[in-house]
Amino acid sequence: MKESITKNKLTPAMKQYWDAKKKYPNTIMLFRMGDFYETFDSDAEITSNLLDIALTKRANGAASSVPLAGFPYHSLDQHIHKLLSSGYKVAICEQVEDPKFSKGIVKREVVEVLSPGTAISSKYLSSSENNFLGSFYIFKNEVGYSIIDNSTGEFLCGKTNQQNIINVIKEYKLKEIIIPAFQEEQFSFFLDSNVMVTTYDDWKADYDNCYEKLLEQFKTKSLKGYGIEKNKAVIVPSGACLFYLENNSFNKVKHVTSISYIIEDGYMRLDDFTLKNLEIFDSLNNKNLDGTLIKTIDLTSTSMGARLLKKHLRKPLTNIKKIKFRLQVIDELINNEQLLDDMHDLLKQVFDIERIIGRISSDKANPQDMLNLSKSLSILEDMNHLIKPKHKSLKQIINKQKKLKKIIQLINKTIIDEPPINFNKGYFIKNGINKSLDQYRSISKDANKWLVEYQEKQKTKTNIPSLKISYNKVFGYYIDITKTHLNKVPDYFIRKQTLTNSERYFTGELKEYEEKILFSNDKSLEIEKEIFNSLKSKVILQFKNIQFNAQVIARIDVSVSHARTAIAYDYSMPQFNNKNGIDIKNGRHPVVERLLPLGQEFISNDLNLINNKKHLGIITGPNMSGKSTFLRQTGLIVLLAQIGSFVPAEKCLLSIVDQLFTRVGASDNLAGGESTFLVEMNESANILNNATNKSLIILDEIGRGTSTFDGLSLAWAITEYLHNNKKIKARTLFATHYHELIDLADKLPGAFNLNVEVIEDNDKVIFLRKIKDGGASKSYGIQVAEMAGLPNNIILRAKDLLCDFMNNKAKHSNIVVEQKNSQLDLFSKDNKLSKKIQEIDVDNISPVDALNILNDLKNDSK
Ligand code: ATP
Repeated sequence: MKESITKNKLTPAMKQYWDAKKKYPNTIMLFRMGDFYETFDSDAEITSNLLDIALTKRANGAASSVPLAGFPYHSLDQHIHKLLSSGYKVAICEQVEDPKFSKGIVKREVVEVLSPGTAISSKYLSSSENNFLGSFYIFKNEVGYSIIDNSTGEFLCGKTNQQNIINVIKEYKLKEIIIPAFQEEQFSFFLDSNVMVTTYDDWKADYDNCYEKLLEQFKTKSLKGYGIEKNKAVIVPSGACLFYLENNSFNKVKHVTSISYIIEDGYMRLDDFTLKNLEIFDSLNNKNLDGTLIKTIDLTSTSMGARLLKKHLRKPLTNIKKIKFRLQVIDELINNEQLLDDMHDLLKQVFDIERIIGRISSDKANPQDMLNLSKSLSILEDMNHLIKPKHKSLKQIINKQKKLKKIIQLINKTIIDEPPINFNKGYFIKNGINKSLDQYRSISKDANKWLVEYQEKQKTKTNIPSLKISYNKVFGYYIDITKTHLNKVPDYFIRKQTLTNSERYFTGELKEYEEKILFSNDKSLEIEKEIFNSLKSKVILQFKNIQFNAQVIARIDVSVSHARTAIAYDYSMPQFNNKNGIDIKNGRHPVVERLLPLGQEFISNDLNLINNKKHLGIITGPNMSGKSTFLRQTGLIVLLAQIGSFVPAEKCLLSIVDQLFTRVGASDNLAGGESTFLVEMNESANILNNATNKSLIILDEIGRGTSTFDGLSLAWAITEYLHNNKKIKARTLFATHYHELIDLADKLPGAFNLNVEVIEDNDKVIFLRKIKDGGASKSYGIQVAEMAGLPNNIILRAKDLLCDFMNNKAKHSNIVVEQKNSQLDLFSKDNKLSKKIQEIDVDNISPVDALNILNDLKNDSK
């Protein structure tokens, strides 16, 4: 608080404001005043700037004034979105009593603290993405972490090491991180500065406190059922997560019903480089989704399905049985197109159940949410009718659903079919649910009838045809008489308000009516809210089962999406075995084939990698011929196969890939102090240190970021290492413009050459995009530059230079040959020198003779 403000005498409202602000110093405080949220002082300066709202001054008692900026209460969500996206925490200070009944200043309290990692508003969140808060805790040599999505109730925990923290942050796209205050310094080396970091009090990092907190949350006696009993490294950050959420949302975390321990076994390892290079979620060139795999294959209909598909892509499976199950479900849907269409139609009617649960838990749900919940849950029953016993795998999924018939019926019985958006207007509970409610409603209804009759009666009595009875919030019911008829107003009309063109009156009878109707309206609303709250608590008891069924719907949605993609884009079912490498017939790049201009056809290609035998393919070929596309399509086909999707190929036979590595092109991390070449070498080191003989390695150029000979030497040595190292021998595809590596592939038994076919026509190149055996002869870089539109004189000069360089290279190689030859001459059998050396009888020669012979040889050599 500013000195000047404290010194001056404050108005009661401002005193209330500063008292609240003191308790939440690191937040922007939104202070409810009537129909507005106001911000003051430095908060007002920030909000006026960020939210583009007027900055004014408020008289603040005595002689002082404070900067002020506010906005109407109904635009709260939209403004919160902006504040959170800009990295601010927001505290909402509400009026917690009805101003009508308050004596003196209305009571206000902070009811919620919002932060980027705990927000639940649909305005702030993307429906197809989770919004995760992460909690980290260093325990001995490990780092325990916990990830929670407050909007859906998803709660995960796991262990990692300090170097990997950054990967966890990226994998879950954490919006906010919490750490214990006493470990702040230790974390400073590992945390990404772009994510909001909040520290919490040390007592919340106490093992016993955290353990108890988790038991209390899940209402269990131990954590054995979650596989984390006595696991201090994860119990502390998980408990801390709950403390943090509770503290911010004031105990409204009932939707967090369980925790899952993240097991890395059973999933393909995909590092951040690979997700980035294969453009799974983000495009390398632009910030939107265009050109990404997710945009191409995501045909899900529900938000839950969209989020699950993303999870699958982040964690492809390595268990063949599980993959095959997912594939069978898709196959059943593809073979029953009517079923597929019907399921798709049903899925389109499903709302975001997980987020509705989040809103119910935090008291933000309205009657429409409740109805949407019941509609969405009842879809599973409709699906169950569609799925026949012959659809074995689908049946297996749907049969897992929990029975929620009772709660669905209760919601449908309670809430009217088209509830109003404004909760406070009432009339969202059906008639016949509560006797008192029905009675109050009939009073209102009768009173309405009375009102119409009373208006007619007064019109006749006063002979004023324009007499009208109206209502407003401030003055209640009144009789409106225009100025022209004022002379006819009877005595029993009591004046209420004077306007320019009319006068407003009331009567004793009308006042009586008003009290009656307002009382019954208030009572009705009170009862409706009570009924709604009781319904809510019954729904809360079923949260766990509802969340489970939401996941059943999500699984079906993902399968339906895969089936529709497979049909639309002609994908086929991948096959798996344990021995072969990767055998792809007519494979295609799922994204490039969709983005080609009209009339251009994608050329499919084959690939056959055989473990331990023919496992390292070196791909050469001109620029722009399609090397990168071929490499990446292989990675994407493998990835799709292992998430249990059909693949863009005529045939794909695969043995499981445990890790997929890609190193592509040049990028730098200047902010992180890494040059382009260092980034390239870091990525390469990561591959060489972690790959196994079950991995798939995709290298699109290596060694281009340094001098030609350094780069070539590195590329050569890395290729040899990947081929020869028994621990690796991974399936590898390496695209390069170092044509020297073609010879290397010929020498290594497990390596082979591939090139992309082109034909030359009058110094122009025609790309055939077909991969064939053998190495390429040229790169055609200059021709590609010409295609790009480089000025003609540059192209001509480059061609001349290329000729010179090639000639020099030839001369250079002649010199090398001559040198080699002369070395050979020196030791050839016919050489004089050589003959003399061979005549020396080394066993029987004295040291003096040896010196003499050496002297002769020296003279001869002259
Ligand atoms: P560079 O060596 O210059 O990096 P490249 O050989 O890696 O080139 P790509 O980037 O894979 O070439 O392909 C260039 C363009 O060619 C792609 O953007 C795509 O439009 C088209 N293309 C690639 N492969 C095919 C294919 N199989 N069928 C049709 N078009 C293709």
